Amino acid sequence: MNDLSFDIAVIGGGASGLMAALAAHRKSPALKIGVLERLPRVGKKLMATGNGRCNLTNINASPADYHGDVAFMESAMRRFPPRAVMARFEEYGVYPVVEDGGRVYPMSGQASSVVDALRLSLAERGIPEICEFEAAALERAGKTWRVRAKDGREARAGRVIVATGGLTVPSLGGSASGYRLLEALGHRATPRLPALVQLKTDPAAVRALKGVRYDGRIDILVDGRPVRGETGEVLFTEYGLSGIAVMQLSRVASTALARRNPPPVSARLHILPLPEEEARALLLSRRATLAARPLENFLTGLVNKRLGQTLVKRACPLPLATPVAEMTDGQLSSLAALLTGWTLPVTGTQGFEQAQVTAGGVRTADFDPDTMESRLVPGLYVTGELYDIDGDCGGFNLQWAWASAMAAGEAAAIANGELRRG
Ligand SMILES: Cc1cc2nc3c(=O)[nH]c(=O)nc-3n(C[C@H](O)[C@H](O)[C@H](O)COP(=O)(O)OP(=O)(O)OC[C@H]3O[C@@H](n4cnc5c(N)ncnc54)[C@H](O)[C@@H]3O)c2cc1C
Repeated sequence: MNDLSFDIAVIGGGASGLMAALAAHRKSPALKIGVLERLPRVGKKLMATGNGRCNLTNINASPADYHGDVAFMESAMRRFPPRAVMARFEEYGVYPVVEDGGRVYPMSGQASSVVDALRLSLAERGIPEICEFEAAALERAGKTWRVRAKDGREARAGRVIVATGGLTVPSLGGSASGYRLLEALGHRATPRLPALVQLKTDPAAVRALKGVRYDGRIDILVDGRPVRGETGEVLFTEYGLSGIAVMQLSRVASTALARRNPPPVSARLHILPLPEEEARALLLSRRATLAARPLENFLTGLVNKRLGQTLVKRACPLPLATPVAEMTDGQLSSLAALLTGWTLPVTGTQGFEQAQVTAGGVRTADFDPDTMESRLVPGLYVTGELYDIDGDCGGFNLQWAWASAMAAGEAAAIANGELRRG
């Protein structure tokens, strides 16, 4: 495509960029709209969402599911709540199905079908995808925006929607270029940290447990005080902890560890869902009834075998072949404490390559929450993960991507009409 002149140019062909282009067209079908994408294909990250199933939105989404400048979201989320997003997807051919916890997936069970449906909808409306166009500079000359690509090409538009997303998973589109484009225009951003990401601990403590999982509670302690807890799957890895419950907690850990003088951060694992005293009573009774068993099988049948052996070794220095009866009361108490609150130091988180969302981002105070338009440079709109807003696991990040895109797309289309009349 040679003519890169548009009424509205959308920079970034991810979740919010594709939806913003469609929302602008829906409001004003006569407008010339184009999507500029850095990668050879649009929607790469979207294809990987929800383990390949795309957790589109969550019907229970509320401010409690988000972090950062949550107040900024109120207007767009009120006008484009999960049910409105689901209805919009039906228009594009995607039939949404509500599952446990209000999570919404396409009936096809395929994230690729969501990308296909958005792409087909763009094509049906004559909205081109211009791929391998990496926006490197953005400037306004009079009423026209110029978007210069890294390879020297130039697109022009009356309005520009920046939808370049956050820093996560560079191979799927994660990039800092959106922050740079906006900072060059006077916008500021808060520090960015990986969130919805795995935690690192002392590898020596967990290496033998790689692949073991338990379903239960985990708390994050900052300076010895619990700050957030989650119940769900916890998975041991060779470097630390993963699983949905861990990912949900990662934000509080990465925020605390990013402080100038970071306090000690730890994860407390509740492997047995019992108070410590009850766990101790249970172990006393097992010691009596299973007295002749070797220690290596003391917890077999109660918790995962490898996990049980690891905890027995930590609580009791005896060889694992020793009969259970030889465990002292003190060692048994230590084991009960580990089973109900094994505390591991959190030394860091995995990086942006592994994270699902970026915490921190472009300051919302410089944008109009009704339209997503910049208060500093009129005609410039921002959507999605670029903002200082991030959600928990469960479809919340995409819900924000869609809602902010619908608000920006509509507003840009309306304003473009006014520009033409004016
Ligand atoms: C593995 C994984 C699984 C996830 N699963 C879920 C889930 O199931 N549910 C959920 O709600 N959220 C999920 N998320 C988070 C969700 O995908 C993102 O929050 C969402 O995609 C953000 O949308 P966006 O439009 O802001 O950015 P993106 O979808 O990241 O799109 C940004 C686009 O801009 C392009 N771009 C970047 N810079 C430039 C440039 N200079 N010029 C042109 N184009 C550029 C990128 O290549 C990319 O295509 C997941 C994230 C990951 C990494």
